[in-house]
Amino acid sequence: MKILVPVKRVVDANVSVRVKADESGVELGNVKMAMNPFCEIAVEEAIRLREKGLADEVVLVSAGSAKSEETLRTGLAMGADRGILIEAEGPLEPLAVARLLEAVVGNESPELVVMGKQAVDDDNNQTGQMLAGLLDWPIATFISSIEISGDEVVVACEVDNGIETLKLKLPSLVTADLRLNEPRYASLPNIMKAKKKPVDKTTPAELGVDVTPHLEVIKVAQPPSRKAGVLVTSAEELIEKLRNEAQVI
Ligand code: AMP
Repeated sequence: MKILVPVKRVVDANVSVRVKADESGVELGNVKMAMNPFCEIAVEEAIRLREKGLADEVVLVSAGSAKSEETLRTGLAMGADRGILIEAEGPLEPLAVARLLEAVVGNESPELVVMGKQAVDDDNNQTGQMLAGLLDWPIATFISSIEISGDEVVVACEVDNGIETLKLKLPSLVTADLRLNEPRYASLPNIMKAKKKPVDKTTPAELGVDVTPHLEVIKVAQPPSRKAGVLVTSAEELIEKLRNEAQVI
């Protein structure tokens, strides 16, 4: 079984981002970038499935600038087998990414696609759902466990009132939630080995996909700054403040 894992390069989750002075977007110059944390969880799970003998190959794919190759190399250092870089400059909307991934699925024929539940830069939480729609595949979102037996996948999904257990027929698509696993760190020898692993390069034009944006970003503004907190000296004082001063939102 082949597993395809789409991974996105985003601003490192530990960086506190700043809005550009002209409010046209977020400042990306000289900012540390990294693999989207939910994509890391997806890569880890795919590698674990291969290590259990349930998959033969883990293929990563990333769409973005040439620098997204670094993100692919990070996943290859974790243990994925090969990568596909779809080189595209400029913003890529979830529907454009889903169409690019649909083309890659057409070329690669994976039985399972494991994605992040969302990318932490735009918080879209759309690409997996759109890709499953385009492919007409079953999808389970926000999974916190996965088991594969034969041509069936059983997953636990985090829903508002508990954990839902779902059974899907392969081929299918799942999106990873935080509790699925704790991704491994790549060892130095594996980082060196990853440099030699194959990364094929392609473009939206070669895949026959038009990625022209449909949305216009009018402005990106800084959220209002929060008022300073107040230190209370006792539980009684806290209760009194909650009763008399707390605002009902
Ligand atoms: P989003 O819908 O943007 O929140 O992203 C959800 C998931 O879609 C991510 O965790 C990735 O698995 C995948 N994805 C989004 N954008 C890209 C991209 N540019 N390249 C590869 N995968 C992506």
